[in-house]
Amino acid sequence: MKFLRRFVTFWALFALTAIAVISLDSHRSLSTDPSQVQSAQINGSPQKLALLPDYSRDIDCFATANHYQIEAKLRLEQGNAVIQGLQNVRYTNHSPNPLQEVVFRLYPNIPSLQKTAQLQVTATRLAGKPLTSTLSSNNTVLTVQLPTPLPPSQSVELDLEFVTQIRQNQRGASFGRMGYIDDVITAGSWYPALSVYEAQRGWWVTSIPAPITDATGNVESDSDPTYTETSLFEVKLTVPRSLAVISNGVQVNRQTNTDGTVTYHSITGPMREQVWVASSRYEKTQAEVDGVKLNIWYYRDRANANSRSTRNALELTQKSLVAFNQQFGAYPYRELQVVQNPVSTGLEFPGLVLINSNAWNKTAIQRLVVHEVAHQWFYGLVGNNQVEHPWLDEGLATYAERVYQLFYADAKTAEKLNRYAQQSIKEFDQAIATGNLPDLRLNLPVADFKEFYGLFAYKRGSDFYIQLEQQLGQAAVYQALRQYVQQHRYEIATIRDPKAALEQASGKKLDEVYAKWIGSYQKDDKPATARVCQSAPS
Ligand SMILES: [Zn+2]
Repeated sequence: MKFLRRFVTFWALFALTAIAVISLDSHRSLSTDPSQVQSAQINGSPQKLALLPDYSRDIDCFATANHYQIEAKLRLEQGNAVIQGLQNVRYTNHSPNPLQEVVFRLYPNIPSLQKTAQLQVTATRLAGKPLTSTLSSNNTVLTVQLPTPLPPSQSVELDLEFVTQIRQNQRGASFGRMGYIDDVITAGSWYPALSVYEAQRGWWVTSIPAPITDATGNVESDSDPTYTETSLFEVKLTVPRSLAVISNGVQVNRQTNTDGTVTYHSITGPMREQVWVASSRYEKTQAEVDGVKLNIWYYRDRANANSRSTRNALELTQKSLVAFNQQFGAYPYRELQVVQNPVSTGLEFPGLVLINSNAWNKTAIQRLVVHEVAHQWFYGLVGNNQVEHPWLDEGLATYAERVYQLFYADAKTAEKLNRYAQQSIKEFDQAIATGNLPDLRLNLPVADFKEFYGLFAYKRGSDFYIQLEQQLGQAAVYQALRQYVQQHRYEIATIRDPKAALEQASGKKLDEVYAKWIGSYQKDDKPATARVCQSAPS
């Protein structure tokens, strides 16, 4: 997420290089040739199609991962979007404990979407037999009782019927994850999402904190609510013919039905969430970096006014991918969608980022694109509990903005950036010393940061790595982050993981610096997720 009221920006010092001229492609074609599906299926899982060839073997590590198959139909009813879905989900118990229940999080019911969205699960079945389930935590937790305990290493397949509603024109009331505004329907984590089981704490059922709102109740600032395991998704979404669907992963088929609807069939590689955006307004422009297809989706009705910004968005995305592929390791997926969108300032989903439609034509787009693309590594590939350890991904995504700037900076600009960064850290320290800012450690849940969430989880989180550059050398910090991504990709990281990578890369113990900046992390539990995929690319 990118929305900070008190953020100290470094971006003013960053000079954009000349914008390359890239032709705009006005076709709303399928992302992937459906004929490829068959050959991919012959060679194993169709999900391999969503990964670059060098990484297609990663799918083999997810043979027992969570697997969602969702069929859903979107209809527009009195102006609202109503999505009726049937979800078959396979859950495997990777913990050492037998499980009596399986827990889902219903993210459309979180406080920041209270006026915007609602998700109701209307039936839960196992092998055709109804199961008992209960709602808790303001309808964001659905606990499904299993008839017999699920032993370790065993899987269960559940069928859930659900209805998700997105109310139209709740402008300012939602914060990015869902919305139906300006004829654009945005649906992130719109289905019942499996929660995470931690061997020591059990199922994750923590309440999602309410956002900061203004006097009229509109959401001003919010944090990301999701904490999920890497899973495989296959979605068939049927929509009125007037709408086109953009989703993460790859679209493998689009079928026109006799009733005037169209069914979009999409699959993902190993990803944490499924997301789609539906509208008649989009066209796209494309480019390719290191084999990854970049699709920049912009409003066709603003195409002329947008053209320079759209080219800018494409160039920023290309340059981000080049820089981060080199500094953090390869983005393994075949596609990345960047979508002009009305409901968020900027928001990351695995394989798809939303960029605010108004920011599209402003200089803010520069930071937004770089930051949200950086989340593909920090949150997307290496996940974390965004409610309880938000600095883990936000600090790194903000630090990645600096990595990007330095990647393209000449020596003089780099020197300026470094001087400014050091000065900024000094001023922050002084503000804490004089009591103008609270003396907070970074390992806090979102709610405990209160109004200082952005300033600490983002800026201070980034400053942590900048001051480590001074202590350990920039090369050691970069090497540690590459190692962190390589060792924990598709996994859920905890506070200990970046520390271990930094200590290994630098050969220094960091207990003292962690005590000063990060604080306590001993209780941090390692979730029992699917087998980690660490094999080097072929
Ligand atoms: Zn962010």
